[in-house]
Amino acid sequence: MLESGRPAMCKLCKKKDRRVLQVHHKDGNDQNYEIDNLIWLCVNCHHLVHCHDVLLN
Ligand SMILES: [Zn+2]
Ligand SMILES: [Zn+2]
Repeated sequence: MLESGRPAMCKLCKKKDRRVLQVHHKDGNDQNYEIDNLIWLCVNCHHLVHCHDVLLN
């Protein structure tokens, strides 16, 4: 995933700082590493998605 060629950029705020970017599993299953299930989120947006049901699309 990390070097899959997909640019590392937060899906929500477009931040590109790799130090704060994390992989989010869209279906909530952290064993599912299908490429379509993975998106980049920075720590702030990742928190929002999990705790406040922010929509990703
Ligand atoms: Zn973000
Ligand atoms: Zn997540």
